[in-house]
Amino acid sequence: MKKINLLGSGGSIGTQTVEVCRRHGFGIHSAAVKSNYKKLAEQTREFDIKRVCIYDEKYYKPLKEELSDSNTEILAGLDGLCELAADKTADLTVNAVVGMVGLKPTVSALENGIEVALANKETLVAGGDIVMKLAAQKGITILPVDSEHSAIFQCLMGVKGDVKKQLKGLILTASGGPFFGMTAGELETVTTQQALCHPNWSMGRKITVDSATLMNKGLELMEACHLFGVSPSQVEIVVHRQSIVHSAVVLSDNAVIAQLGVPDMKIPIQLALTYPERCESLSAKLSLTDYGTLTFEKPDYDTFKCLKAAVKAARIGGTAGSIVNGANERAVELFLSGKIGFGDIGRGVSGALDNITVRAADTLEAVLAADAEARDYINSRFC
Ligand code: MG
Repeated sequence: MKKINLLGSGGSIGTQTVEVCRRHGFGIHSAAVKSNYKKLAEQTREFDIKRVCIYDEKYYKPLKEELSDSNTEILAGLDGLCELAADKTADLTVNAVVGMVGLKPTVSALENGIEVALANKETLVAGGDIVMKLAAQKGITILPVDSEHSAIFQCLMGVKGDVKKQLKGLILTASGGPFFGMTAGELETVTTQQALCHPNWSMGRKITVDSATLMNKGLELMEACHLFGVSPSQVEIVVHRQSIVHSAVVLSDNAVIAQLGVPDMKIPIQLALTYPERCESLSAKLSLTDYGTLTFEKPDYDTFKCLKAAVKAARIGGTAGSIVNGANERAVELFLSGKIGFGDIGRGVSGALDNITVRAADTLEAVLAADAEARDYINSRFC
């Protein structure tokens, strides 16, 4: 049975990955959380995890006390995350960390030649140029866990021969989030509570806000371009309110192949663990007649400014991805703590892209510097 390193085991994707492991008897060799040391200790006892890491070092001591009766090795901080990511005792590293923090561990895993199942989209948004080159050098296929990218990956599993030559474009579907159809004026007064109510998916707080601003789809556009080697102009973003069609590929003869299913992350998570095979899952079976109607609409780029800025960043390339991502991460933090309004997120992200110089994203230092500059921009504008 496969064994995994699970980074971000306390989050939404992490806990669902744990469910999949429990269902299929996959082992967890190592696991890391941001701060939820109680959850990590629980998982450690259940799965007999050999190595754990707590990202926020102030919880190192309480975790150590929690695990005082075990032989589990306890690490802390970003270095600890990178060490677990690269641990080859496991067969696969699942990176389900939220945010830019996930980039270095992905690089560590690939450098050490370990396979990566990627749920951390910032890895590719900010570090795509470095990460894809490194994966190619090491002959590693990155297994996408994001539902849209898993869908595209699944569609391409059915294409024989030279995939690159036959792939004309992608259709990236978006739920539209809780505020679809609202005007820019109406968006100014929405609350944190409203932004955290997603119509279809149950996810962590950061990504739920990103879905409400549609920033998430912009990040996913950049992620898709890196993963599948297409340009932003080859990707059509389509609002599909029911979240049943998880994305589609357009082939050279204009045939379109889509992947469908109920909105449940356990399907893409499980496939990343069992790839290239499939097996019975915990997810419900799709009944198309229960839905009856599936709808498809164009996104409103003028109202959802984050999406507009992210698409622009995708076209520009270089550190533009890192800039919009860093600005967005900081702005969402401020929004979640009640310090700025919903509309400020879009203004902050667009402002960062317009005011910060874009450079080549060919080193980790350049990517991280652009990220820091973007966060500083948001702080100086709003704090
Ligand atoms: Mg997604």
